Amino acid sequence: MDDLIKKTAKDLAVSSKVVALTGAGVSVESGIPPFRGKGGLWEKIDPMEFAHIDAFMRNPAKVWNILIREMKDIVDKARPNDAHIGLARLEKLGILSSIITQNVDGLHQMAGNSDVIEFHGNFAWQKCLACERKIETFRVSLDEIPPKCSCGGILRPDCVFFGEMIPPEELMRSRKASYECDVMLVIGTSALVQPAAYMPVIAKESGALVIEINPESTPLTGSISDYLIKGNAGKIVKEIVTEVEHQMQSRKNA
Ligand SMILES: [Zn+2]
Repeated sequence: MDDLIKKTAKDLAVSSKVVALTGAGVSVESGIPPFRGKGGLWEKIDPMEFAHIDAFMRNPAKVWNILIREMKDIVDKARPNDAHIGLARLEKLGILSSIITQNVDGLHQMAGNSDVIEFHGNFAWQKCLACERKIETFRVSLDEIPPKCSCGGILRPDCVFFGEMIPPEELMRSRKASYECDVMLVIGTSALVQPAAYMPVIAKESGALVIEINPESTPLTGSISDYLIKGNAGKIVKEIVTEVEHQMQSRKNA
């Protein structure tokens, strides 16, 4: 395990462009439950009934009451954990260039990463259906449901509902980042869902090293990823960053 941490730190040090692909596993330690899988939100709430754009347009109040209210409560309180903080540190050190994320919590930006490609938008912001003005989710009062913009338009989360397209620009930028990187860190995601699933494949086919950080092996393990560091995102990323800084210091002293 320690050997893999050391190896990752070395691999990061010699690379010229590092990209991270992150998923729900990066945010669980911030108290954000996953949508999919065991214990996920979609076990409790039928996404077709509450997270589809048609459902929202038909009855915004219902979707606000059942789904968005609960998500707002969770996201308003969430703070970056060691995984987010570590990735922001890697950017500061000039190692990490961008993050591609499936998460909508905005925690990578809150931690300080400047180039975050979001497939599913960002729940930390709401957008007015009428004038498209954006307002931070934590500023939205729930006294009236659905909440409204000062212009009277209904507010919706600035993230992608079922039945909506992944923003084409984000898709394009993520393909480019995956194609150009020489190391991809896949963290806290089994990368089963498109289009995220395709990014490690693009990276691998373009000759990049694909390093996986997940609690268990995934369909990527042993096929797409070069190696897996088993463990929770926060702990492993923190250990990697400590080792990277240690190696940088040793080089400086040498
Ligand atoms: Zn408005």
